[in-house]
Amino acid sequence: MTPGNHGLPYGANSSRPTRLEDENAMHVFCSHSFRNGCFYLYFFKKRSSCDGAAHMYMKISELFAQKRPVVSFEVFPPKPDSPFETVLEAVEALHSLKPDFISVTYGAGGSTQNKTLELAQYIKDAYGIEALVHLTCITNSLEDIEKILKEIEDRGLENILALRGDPPKDWQGSVYKIHATDLVKSIAKRKKFFIAGAAYPEGHPEAANPKEDLRHLKEKVEAGAELLITQIAFDNDYLKRFREGVAHAGITVPITAGIMPVFSAGQIAHICGLCGATLPSQLVDMLNKYSHNQDALQSAGIEYACRQINDLVDAGFDGIHIYTMNKPLLARAILSGTNLR
Ligand code: FAD
Repeated sequence: MTPGNHGLPYGANSSRPTRLEDENAMHVFCSHSFRNGCFYLYFFKKRSSCDGAAHMYMKISELFAQKRPVVSFEVFPPKPDSPFETVLEAVEALHSLKPDFISVTYGAGGSTQNKTLELAQYIKDAYGIEALVHLTCITNSLEDIEKILKEIEDRGLENILALRGDPPKDWQGSVYKIHATDLVKSIAKRKKFFIAGAAYPEGHPEAANPKEDLRHLKEKVEAGAELLITQIAFDNDYLKRFREGVAHAGITVPITAGIMPVFSAGQIAHICGLCGATLPSQLVDMLNKYSHNQDALQSAGIEYACRQINDLVDAGFDGIHIYTMNKPLLARAILSGTNLR
C-alpha cells in the first residue's frame, strides 16, 4: 500500500498521524478524520527513506542554513470540483525525486483552500517532506485569515508563502486594501511559522517602477519574510540583476529562482499573459522551430530549463524552485539534466 492508494481521502479535520509499528523498514501510521458526519480511520505507510533523510521535518530556514542550492517543487491542488485523489499519483512521483520542500498553491479567492491545506499536510505526513502552504489575503478579512492560520497550525504545517493574491475575474465578494506585507505581519505575530514572500525579477505588473517595488519588497522582509521565491523567469539576466538590486537594498534573506520548463506554445502564451515574463530571443526561436512538433518542443524546453538552472547554480543562487505543473516527468528530466543532485 502506498500513501497514494490508501483508499480513504486524507480529510479535512484529520488528526496528526500516530506511529503504530515498524515493519520491513516501512512505518505504519494511523490517522482519522471527520467528514460529512462520519468518522474515518485509516492507515498509510511512510517510507523508511523519509525517516532516514537528514532534512526531514526540518524547517525551511534550517534547510537554507545547511545546503545550497535548496531544490523545491511547486504543485497545485485538485480543482474545487475534482477529487483529492487526482493529484496523488503526481505527488507520489514527485516526492520520489527528493525535493527539499514542496510548495502548494492556493486558488485565487481561496477556491482551493481546503485542498491546499489537505495536500500540504499529506505531503508532510505521508512523505516527511516539508510543505510550504501558499496563502493569499486580498479576498479575506483579518478574521478569516486568523481562522485559516489556526487551521494551518492545527494541521501541523509550519511554513507559509504569504501572498496578496489577485481577485478572480468574476469575483463578487469583498476585495480588501491589503498587501502581502500586512499578511506577513499577521503571521509573524503568531511566532509559529516560517514565512516566505513572492518577488518579481522583472517587477510586479502593478509596480510604479522597480525602485518602488524593491522598497515594498524590503518592507515585506522587514515584516518577517525569511525567504523570497521569484516569479517565473526565462531570462537569467533579469534574475541576476534583480539579485544584485536586492543585495544593494540591504535585503539578505535567501532568494530562490522560479523556473518553469516550457512544454507547449499554449502554456507559454498563458504564463506570459499572467505574469508578463520576457521571452528571450533564443526561447522564441525554439518555440517557432518546434511549433508543430510537441515532443521536440518539450525536449528543447527541458534542455533550456536545465541550461538556465546550471547557470544560476554556477552564479550561486540560494535555491531553485521548479514550477512542476504536477508533471513529474518534467521535474525528473530537469533533475537528471542539471547538477542540482
Ligand atoms: P505584494 O507583495 O502585496 O505586491 C503587489 C504589488 O503591490 C506590487 O506592485 C508591490 O510593489 C505593491 N506594494 C506592496 N506593498 C505596498 C504598499 N505598502 N503600498 C503600495 N504598494 C505596495 N497567486 C495565487 O492566487 N495563488 C498562489 O498560490 C500564488 N503563488 C505565487 C507564488 C509565487 C512564487 C509568486 C511570485 C506569485 C504567486 N501568486 C499566487 C501570484 C501573486 O498572488 C500575484 O502576483 C499578486 O498580484 C501579488 O502578490 P504579492 O504577494 O507579490 O503582493
